[in-house]
Amino acid sequence: MSYQHQFLDNSLIKLPFGKAVCVGRNYVEHAKELDNPVPCEPILFIKPASCALSFTPNFVIPKHLGDVHYEAEIAILIGNNLQGIITTEQAQQAVIAIAGALDLTLRDAQNILKKQGLPWEKAKCFDGALILTPFIKADNLDLTNLDIELLINKQTVQQGNSKQMITSIINLIKYITKHFCLQAGDVILTGTPAGVGKLKAGDQLQLNLVESQFYANVI
Ligand code: ZN
Repeated sequence: MSYQHQFLDNSLIKLPFGKAVCVGRNYVEHAKELDNPVPCEPILFIKPASCALSFTPNFVIPKHLGDVHYEAEIAILIGNNLQGIITTEQAQQAVIAIAGALDLTLRDAQNILKKQGLPWEKAKCFDGALILTPFIKADNLDLTNLDIELLINKQTVQQGNSKQMITSIINLIKYITKHFCLQAGDVILTGTPAGVGKLKAGDQLQLNLVESQFYANVI
């Protein structure tokens, strides 16, 4: 895999990409649509960097592994090493950029694993399971008010704002580092709003994040 983080102007971000820490059910309406209880603390799982592909101009999805679902999410790029109990200020300083992400999920496989009480890696960590747009510098962004929208074939399918998150971006960072370290270059996927569904080859995607629009074709 040759994925590397980059900014909107295509300049490469010189940080190694180790892992994406993903948050499950961080929007109430999404938990409900999959018949999951709303969690009392964040649900975390990890995608390795080897999953990642660039959103634009196109990306490939698996064809023979059952339904592939999109989950559009706000991704946070961490710029400092963080560990243990950290302050709100340390968490804020660590956020250097944001991107749009698709947490691709083999939903049929995940449902079977969930029923059996097994880990989700086969459904969440296949090659190409993490799609990332270029990053937008976080300098002037209000992390508590970020809009994200996904359109498929010109129809809006998901729409959310970070103010709807059950656990805010800064509190997620503080929660995660209590359990394991975050390293410079790591990414956090902050959960998906309602509206997840099936992706298929030939779909034309538009992902809107704050002021930016990103386009991709699914192949
Ligand atoms: Zn997700």
